[in-house]
Amino acid sequence: MSRTRAEIESEIMSLLRDNIRNIVPYSTARDDCKAKMDIYLDANENPFDTGVNRYPSPHQPKLKKMLSVLKKVPEENIFTGNGSDEPIDLIFRMFCPPGKSSMVQAVPTYGMYSVAAAINDVRVIDAPLSADFTLDADDLLSRVEPDTRLIFLCSPNNPSGNLLDRDAIISILDRFQGIVVVDEAYIDFAESPGFTGLLSQYPRLIVLQTLSKAWGMAGLRIGMAMADSCITGIMSRIKYPYNISVLNQSKAEEILSDPLKAADRVKELIAERTRLSEALSALPEVLKVYPSDANFLLVRFRDKDKAFAALMEAGIIVRDRSSAYNCAGCLRITVGTPEENDRLLAVLGASRAQAGSRSPVLAGGRKASVFRKTGETSVCVRSDLDSFRPPRIATGLNFLNHMLEQIGYHAHIALDVICFGDLETDDHHSVEDIAIALGDCLDSALGDKSGIGRYGFSLPMDEAEATVLIDLGGRIDFLWDVALSGEKVGDVTSVMFRHFFKSLSEHLKCNLHIKAAGENDHHVIEGVFKAFARALRQAVGRVPGGNDIPSSKGRL
Ligand SMILES: *Cc1c(COP(=O)(O)O)cnc(C)c1O
Repeated sequence: MSRTRAEIESEIMSLLRDNIRNIVPYSTARDDCKAKMDIYLDANENPFDTGVNRYPSPHQPKLKKMLSVLKKVPEENIFTGNGSDEPIDLIFRMFCPPGKSSMVQAVPTYGMYSVAAAINDVRVIDAPLSADFTLDADDLLSRVEPDTRLIFLCSPNNPSGNLLDRDAIISILDRFQGIVVVDEAYIDFAESPGFTGLLSQYPRLIVLQTLSKAWGMAGLRIGMAMADSCITGIMSRIKYPYNISVLNQSKAEEILSDPLKAADRVKELIAERTRLSEALSALPEVLKVYPSDANFLLVRFRDKDKAFAALMEAGIIVRDRSSAYNCAGCLRITVGTPEENDRLLAVLGASRAQAGSRSPVLAGGRKASVFRKTGETSVCVRSDLDSFRPPRIATGLNFLNHMLEQIGYHAHIALDVICFGDLETDDHHSVEDIAIALGDCLDSALGDKSGIGRYGFSLPMDEAEATVLIDLGGRIDFLWDVALSGEKVGDVTSVMFRHFFKSLSEHLKCNLHIKAAGENDHHVIEGVFKAFARALRQAVGRVPGGNDIPSSKGRL
């Protein structure tokens, strides 16, 4: 069943336009020369420093490295472009002979696909979504013609706002022999993992994402295509050499380095989406608010012109989508700030009660966040010992991601860990600095430790045979009796696990005794992380009714 790399590449090559297959890219002297030089006299730049006198990095390795950590997609599978517009256009140029090919799109959808098709002289075949905008794979595939090279699907879809059915998309991937593009511009607003996890399984899949929406960087024009390395490789060869400016690359790197801030904004927008949707639904002028997995709502009005004009009059612009397929009477309204949404609702006649109010930020709680930056890594850790939600973990190390998730789930705490590290050297700095930041963060969230259980012990777990004892009393003592047979566990160096828990115990200021054994290193380490999480849960947990410091000395 599984195909060799050569077979996959030859299939992709066979789908390319003939002129693209063997194209020789524009090359720069700096591409050809890998060593770091002192003096650059190769590109006819002006040598005097204006801040932007040098050409940008043509392949944006730093940006791709950060995106790779955050998206959990290898760098070689990421293409970064001037907005999503650039990869959309490149996809047509790569796969569609002008005047002799067609693409199928599920309508109503984003207008750029048909614009890019027209520019490239590619015929557009519309496959309608149902009245409530669901995707019917059989119907769509029945519209494919012999010259159809591409299928464009947008999920969550613009302008309808809904995620398309996952199984329907998979069925199209399984049955269509050309390229399937899934545009996930709004995926961060949806509760769905999206399709990047299926890239290795479907080499003819291209997933588009963008920094324009959830990341708040529309002004920078940075979009990405994630696909088989053969496809991203061709994209890099046919793009303009310097497609993302110096300033745009550095600003994006700056904003990406604080991903938890972006995640907070997304959370707030999702809460506002719910409030706006409920408030609009209650208005007599509104016939329907479509369910949304994005940062906008498609709303059908009794009289959309009247609503549009009233909003215009009040200085609020929304998008009239009434001419799109199945969208008669509909305006598309982007979710704004709470204040902007209040104004919109007031103009449309909602009472204060109908408008509701922004969801209260949960007060109190034992929370902390730590941002730690060194020459080698930049780590953000955030935890809340009194609430749980699925952990957000991105470290660039798949196995460590998985283990840190275990801590969040099994300690039943909110835990976010993001690390950009020098993994091209090795995993040492990343693992150590994550442990330090995690220890500091948990210690700081514990505050004066009043009311806690203090001790945690986790009995042997049958599958893993791991024992972890913890005392959060403030003294540091570390014991590690874990035999690992291999040099690595997953993509993490085995000796780093001892180092991880040792650094963690020093920064969490705890006694930590860990013993584990077993046949399989993966199970042993997973047992250690789970047992640690369980022990931590017990130790940080509040004792019922107790508000004292759990020590006869009265302090910890
Ligand atoms: C906004 C949007 C994009 C993003 O376009 P950029 O060029 O990256 O700003 C892509 N696809 C869809 C469906 C969109 O709505």
